[in-house]
Amino acid sequence: MKFSTSRILVIGLGLIGGSFARAARRLPKVDQVVGFDLNREECELGVALEVIDSVAEDLQAEVRQADVVMLAVPVKAIEHVLAEIAPWLKESALITDVGSTKVNIIAAAGRIWSEVPAGFIPGHPIAGAEKSGVAASDADLFLQRKVILTPLATTPEDARLTLARLWQSMGAEVLQMEPKRHDEVLAATSHLPHLLAFSLADTLAAEAESTDIFRYAAGGFRDFTRIAASDPTMWHDVCFANREPILAQIDRFTEGLAQLRAAVDTGDSQRLTGIFTRARASREQFSRILERAGYLQANSTPETLVVQPATALSGHLRVPGDRSISHRAIMLAAVAEGVSDIDGFVESEDSLATIQVFRDLGVVIEGPHQGRVRVYGVGLNGLQQPAGPLYFGNSSTSLRMLLGLLAAQSFDSHIAGSSQLMQQSYTELLEPLQQMGAQFELSAAGFPVRVIAGQKKLVPIEYAPGFASAQVKGALILASMASGVPLELYESNTTRDHTERLMRGFGVELAREGRSLQLAVGARLRAQSIQIPADLSFASAFVLAASLIPQTELIIEHTGVNPTRQQLLRILGRMGARYELRNESSSNGEPIADIRVYSAQLVGVDCTSTELAGLGDDLPLLLAAMSCAQGVSELSGIDRLPHRHQQLLEKMLSELQKLGVVIERLPGSVKIVPSSIEGGIALDAHEHPVAALALMIVGIVSQKGLSIAGCRALSSVFPEYVEQARRVGIRLLKEG
Ligand code: NAD
Repeated sequence: MKFSTSRILVIGLGLIGGSFARAARRLPKVDQVVGFDLNREECELGVALEVIDSVAEDLQAEVRQADVVMLAVPVKAIEHVLAEIAPWLKESALITDVGSTKVNIIAAAGRIWSEVPAGFIPGHPIAGAEKSGVAASDADLFLQRKVILTPLATTPEDARLTLARLWQSMGAEVLQMEPKRHDEVLAATSHLPHLLAFSLADTLAAEAESTDIFRYAAGGFRDFTRIAASDPTMWHDVCFANREPILAQIDRFTEGLAQLRAAVDTGDSQRLTGIFTRARASREQFSRILERAGYLQANSTPETLVVQPATALSGHLRVPGDRSISHRAIMLAAVAEGVSDIDGFVESEDSLATIQVFRDLGVVIEGPHQGRVRVYGVGLNGLQQPAGPLYFGNSSTSLRMLLGLLAAQSFDSHIAGSSQLMQQSYTELLEPLQQMGAQFELSAAGFPVRVIAGQKKLVPIEYAPGFASAQVKGALILASMASGVPLELYESNTTRDHTERLMRGFGVELAREGRSLQLAVGARLRAQSIQIPADLSFASAFVLAASLIPQTELIIEHTGVNPTRQQLLRILGRMGARYELRNESSSNGEPIADIRVYSAQLVGVDCTSTELAGLGDDLPLLLAAMSCAQGVSELSGIDRLPHRHQQLLEKMLSELQKLGVVIERLPGSVKIVPSSIEGGIALDAHEHPVAALALMIVGIVSQKGLSIAGCRALSSVFPEYVEQARRVGIRLLKEG
C-alpha cells in the first residue's frame, strides 16, 4: 500500500493543530491543508490567518479524500472523533494524533476497530506553549523539537516512514517508543512538573496575603509556575488519561520532598547539600543533553585544528591538571572518611564521568568550579545502591578502576557506557577480580553489564599478571580495601603509581619490595587536601615541539614528573632531546618540576616492549617523534600492548603514512622510516587528545602545515591549548 501526504485534514484547529497545518502548508509534498474544528470561529480565523487552505464544510467528504488525518483535539475528545470518522477513512490514509498520552488512544482504537487500519500511528510532539487556539499557532513550533511516534506492531514500514518524514520536514526530530514507556516518561518529565506548578500557584493563591506574595514573588516563582498558565481543560484530561503513571510520579516526588523536609528539620546539612548538588549536576547534564553535548560537549560539534609551520619557539607555558591523578583523587576521596578538597582537577569528559558515578553512588561532591572539588567521603563501606545504571561515558579509566570497588559492594550495579567503551576487552581485569570471587554479568561482547553483589566478601589473592596495567592494579587495590582483605600483587613491568602515592596521603601505605606490592588488612582512608600537578603527557608534547624546532627554548611550568610517567621523556632523551628539571618540589607524594627544554637533533631509536608498556597514552607522541627524527626507529613487542593501545597505534600509523612516513611491518614489530614532511593535507586525530597534540607537532615541523580533524576531545581536556601554544609561538587556528 502506498501512503501519501498530499492532502492533509487537521481536526482540531487550536495551537498544535494550527501549528501543524501552518508547517504542512510550507512543504512541497503537501498540496492541500484542510481544517475542521467544532468551534466555527477557529476555522474562520484559520483561513483568515492562512493557517489552512480551506475549511472542511462536509467532514465526511473531506475524510474520504484525506491522505493524512491529524487529530489535534483534547485527549478526551480523540476517541469520539476517531469513532466518528472511522467509517469514511481511505484504506491508505495515515491517521495520527498529537495527544499527550498514548496508551489510552491505542486502547480507544482497539474499541473502535476490530482490525486497526494500517495507517494508524499515534504520535506526540514534545512542543507546545501555554497559549491555546489557532491564533497562537506557529509554523516553527516543531523546529528542533522531538516528536514521539508509537507505531503498532502491525504498522507497515512505509506508513511509519511517510509520517516520520512529514514531521522531519517540519524540522522535528522523530523518535519511536512503546506507548507504555511514552506515558511513563511523559508522566515524569511533563505531567508531574505541570501538576507541581499548578499546585504551587494554587497553594500560594490560597494564602490570605496572596496578592502581596505574588507582588513580591521573584524570578524563581515566575520561572517555576510559568507552566501553571497552561490550559486547565487539557491538563484535566491528561491527568485522567494517564492516571497510573502520574500517581506513581506524585508518590516518588512526595517521598523526595519528605526527605528534603527532614534534612531541613533536623539540620542535616550534608544530606541537604547532597540533594542540591545531585540535583544541580542532573540539571546541568540535562542542559548538555538539550545542547546534544556530552559532559563537556565532547561528542558535539566536530573540531578541526589548522596548524602552520613554526620557526623558533620561546617562553613559558602551563598545561592542565593530570587526568590520571584527577580520577584517582575523586575515587579515593569518595571512599575516605571526612571531607577532601581537591585543587587543579581537570574537567575532562572522563573525569566528570567519575564524579557523576560517585554522586549516583550517594557521595556528595561539590564542584568542579575552576579546578576545585570538595568530596564528602563516605568511607569504604558507605556507598549506596544507585537508583539506575552507572554511566561511564567513554571513560575507560573510571570503569576499569571502579569495577574493583563495585565488585566488593553488597548491592548490584548496572553498568552503561558509550558504544566504544562497550567494545573494549575487559578480560585482563575481570580475571583477577573473578579469582577474588567477584561476579559479573557479561554482554555478548564481554562487557560487564552488571556487577553482581557477592554473597560473601571477596577473598585475598596473590596476583602476577603477564602484562601489568595501572588500572588493573588500581581496581584490585580498591576491591581489596573495600573488602578488608590483604592483596599481594607482582608487577611484571612498572606501571603508573599515582594510586599508591595518593593513598599514602590518605594514610594507607602499600609495602613495596622490588616488583611486589602488598596491601595490609583493614586499611582505612582519611580525607586530605590534594593539589593536582600539571599533566606530563601534555607537557611532553611541548618538550617534543621544542626539540624539533631549531633555536627554541621553552619552560613548561609546575609539571608532575612522577618517574613512572617519564617513559616518553626517557626515550626522547635517548633520541637526543635536551631537557632539564628545575624548581623540583612535591605535592601529595607526587614530584613536581618546571621542565626546561632546548632544540636538539633527534635520531631514530629502537624501543623494547617493556619501554612501550610504560608509555600508555603517550604512544602517539613517540610515533610523531620517530616520524620527524633522523634515521629509522623500531618498536618491538607491539602485539603485547593492551588492545586499546594497539588500536591507537594503528590509527596513528595510518595518519603518519598519509604524510609519506614509511611504515614497515614485521612480525610483532614495526619500523618507522621518516621522510621530509611536506604536509598541506588533512589528517584525523580520531578524538584522542594526545594524538591531536602529536599531529599538531608534526604539523609545525612540516613545510605546509596540516589540518587535523577530530580535535574536540583535546579541547575538552585542555580547553586553553590554542592560547598556550600561541604564547610560545605556535601558529594555529581552531575551526568548528
Ligand atoms: P487547543 O485548545 O489550542 O486546541 C484544541 C482545539 O480542538 C480547539 O480549537 C477545540 O475547539 C477543538 N476541538 C475540541 N473538541 C473537538 C472535536 N470533537 N472536534 C473538533 N474539534 C474539537 O489545544 P492544543 O494545545 O492545540 O492541544 C491539542 C492537543 O495537543 C491535545 O490533545 C493536547 O494533549 C496535545 N498537545 C498539546 C500541547 C501543548 O503544549 N498545548 C503539546 C503537545 C500536545
